Amino acid sequence: MRITGLPPYDPTNVFAKILRGEIPSKRIHDDAFAVAFHDINPQAPVHVLVIPKGAYVSHADFSAKASDAEIAGFWRAVGKVARDLGLESGGYRILSNMGEDGGQEVPHFHVHIFGGRRIGRMVPRAEG
Ligand code: AMP
Repeated sequence: MRITGLPPYDPTNVFAKILRGEIPSKRIHDDAFAVAFHDINPQAPVHVLVIPKGAYVSHADFSAKASDAEIAGFWRAVGKVARDLGLESGGYRILSNMGEDGGQEVPHFHVHIFGGRRIGRMVPRAEG
């Protein structure tokens, strides 16, 4: 499913279910502001998702509505997860898809962390 515009938060989305523990995940981090777990369909040797605990649809929603504490806590968690995964020496990429052109599929804000190999082009060539 592609997301268009800024829809209201859907509490039945898959990451909301992971947050509530209704479906399993390979969780590697959990604090007051963020949870991190391995992506179910990894695109790199290391592919982890970091999500805020709050109900935000996308980065647009999070950056506009989250409190300073939530924003700081979330981004500190992204850095800590990458550090704890041992990615700092080799490097890594963080990425967040937003909305239809961004290719966002899950409507709960998340940041991808990719590492463990040369990740390649910053943005792939346009499709078609
Ligand atoms: P995005 O296109 O940025 O919305 O990416 C959504 C990501 O969520 C994809 O990389 C999926 O592989 C991943 N994903 C979907 N369902 C699950 C799940 N149950 N557990 C872990 N990752 C998931």
